[in-house]
Amino acid sequence: MKNKIKLVNDLLVKKYGIPLRSKVPPKPIDLLIATILSQNTNDKNSFKAFQNLRNDYADWNSVANISTIKIEKLIKIAGLGKQKSKSIKQFLVTLRKEKGYISLDYLTNMDNGEVIKELTKYSGIGVKTASCVLLFSMRRNVCPVDTHVHRTTNRIGIVKTNSPDKTFTLLNKNLPNNIAHSFHTNLIRLGREICKSTKPKCLICPLVKVCQYEFKNLNSNSNYKENNFLLLDSIK
Ligand code: SF4
Repeated sequence: MKNKIKLVNDLLVKKYGIPLRSKVPPKPIDLLIATILSQNTNDKNSFKAFQNLRNDYADWNSVANISTIKIEKLIKIAGLGKQKSKSIKQFLVTLRKEKGYISLDYLTNMDNGEVIKELTKYSGIGVKTASCVLLFSMRRNVCPVDTHVHRTTNRIGIVKTNSPDKTFTLLNKNLPNNIAHSFHTNLIRLGREICKSTKPKCLICPLVKVCQYEFKNLNSNSNYKENNFLLLDSIK
């Protein structure tokens, strides 16, 4: 599977380039709250919701002191306000109670599995959110799996699973070194622009010659003559 992932990553880098990264990684606590806010909305709205919280309050300690309803109002633009405000409030208050301060810097010395176990014990925080902290803040070689990564890696034939968490486990067991950021970011772009959930645009896809989904579809289409597809199954 390692070689399959590497091949797909190379093709995506050829198409989209190596995605930019911020010079200074965001603090884990900021990234975690931003990821909660980003669920089921676009980047613009989740960023605005994050700004609303941070512009009105000096630090997360101050946010922990306000009511869930007040948080809900501030983050309304990101949608799912009730659910997200509850998760944020509970997380901040519990972390402060447990540690005596609000920071996730203590995660630094933990391995990837320990970080995921630690963060997912909080209500409303799943494997995807925890793995975003690992990738974007802690710069670990971990590929978070959202709906786009789950859909595309299953269609391509890298994995065959029925849940994002299972996809996460398999992908990350087999991830080549130093590719998580480009692989994750470019797969999301592919999923948004080309490999959409309905009507994937296979004929303009950079993965068309290695994708099993396209291979199956075209094989059942007698009008389409090209048959020189490189099945990922032949790659170990
Ligand atoms: S060939 Fe089609 S199904 Fe396969 S990754 Fe590209 S768009 Fe998705």
